[in-house]
Formats: sequence, structure tokens, C-alpha cells
Amino acid sequence: MNINIHNILKHSTANGPGNRYVIWVQGCSLKCEGCWNPETWTTQIRQSKKVEEIFQDIQETHQQNHLEGVTISGGEPFDQAGPLITLAEKIQQAGFNLLIFTGHVLEDLITPEQKRFLNQVDWLIDGPFMSEQRTEDLLLRGSGNQRLHYLTNRAYPLENASISDCEILIDANGKMIVSGIPNRELVQLFRGDFDECLY
Ligand code: SF4
Repeated sequence: MNINIHNILKHSTANGPGNRYVIWVQGCSLKCEGCWNPETWTTQIRQSKKVEEIFQDIQETHQQNHLEGVTISGGEPFDQAGPLITLAEKIQQAGFNLLIFTGHVLEDLITPEQKRFLNQVDWLIDGPFMSEQRTEDLLLRGSGNQRLHYLTNRAYPLENASISDCEILIDANGKMIVSGIPNRELVQLFRGDFDECLY
């Protein structure tokens, strides 16, 4: 069972509480106007990884440097719900918490498969990105229509949690990566300098 991956950050503090392993899946059927990650829309294979391979990497990463949890973003995670349910179940069984970003609204996620996926999710950020509602004032959200849901009793309040607004990373190949929700000034200052933008 494989997942089409856009990118992975093994350590991030800007995509949920604490130190997190973050997966951006490849492929999004929603195609929101003003999306910051349109290169994630195509379903052409970018990196195809087995669920077991990703889970093993999460565990090895945790052994090297403690992870609090895993975040899955996109692209659209619910477009690959089947294999992601298997991964999410493993993540929860191993004691990590799970945060998901989706462009759907929670009320529309009603199929048995979608509900099974939601059963594994502690925090859900829902709703499409709307450029006319762009904001820098909401925790983990880039537009005002998006909502933060607490779906399990493991999900603790995030208002005072340790979450960076954004982070700039240099990878082993010297690529400059920005992740999180950078403010306009930062985006303008570094316009064109980032090799990869992961929002
Ligand atoms: S759901 Fe996310 S990745 Fe998909 S188009 Fe909307 S903002 Fe972009």
C-alpha cells in the first residue's frame, strides 16, 4: 500500500504542537483559488512510499530526536484516505498524536472511509484556503474560514502550545525551505530565494 508524497520534513515546529514529522501528500482534487501549493495538485507520482517504509522512518526519526506527533498536509490527505488510514492507525498505536490539514469542511466528511480516517485524528484543520480571507492572525491557519477542531480526548488546547509561526530550513543539499505560515514581509524579503515552500 503506497502513498504519493510531495515532501517530508522529519523535524518541524511550525506544523502543530511540539517537534513533528510532517508529510505533504501529492495530489489535490479541490484546487482552491489562490492555493499556495498548486504544485501539489497533480496526481502524477512524485515520491511513492510504502506505508511501512514511512512508519519505520517515523520511528527511527523519533529514536534520534523525540517526536511528539505527526502532521499530514497536502495536497489533500482525504484523496489518499485508504493508505493514510493504515498509516494513521499505526501512528496512534505507537503513541504519537496526529494533526491533519484538509481543504474539505468537517461536515462533508461523511463516508465510512472518511469517518474511519477521522477516528484517528486528534486535531483537524479544515476548510479550503480562500485568498480573500487570508490572515496571519489565526493559529496554524492561513485563511479566516478555516477551523481548528479537537476530535479526540487526546487533543489538548493548542492556544499555549509550542508552535512556531514559520520556519526556514536548509537541507543537506543546501536547499532553502520555508514551512508554516510566513508573514507578507518575510515572503517579500526572500521572494524567489526559497527552493521549496511547504505550507
Ligand atoms: S486543499 Fe489545500 S492543497 Fe488543495 S487546493 Fe486547497 S489549499 Fe491547495
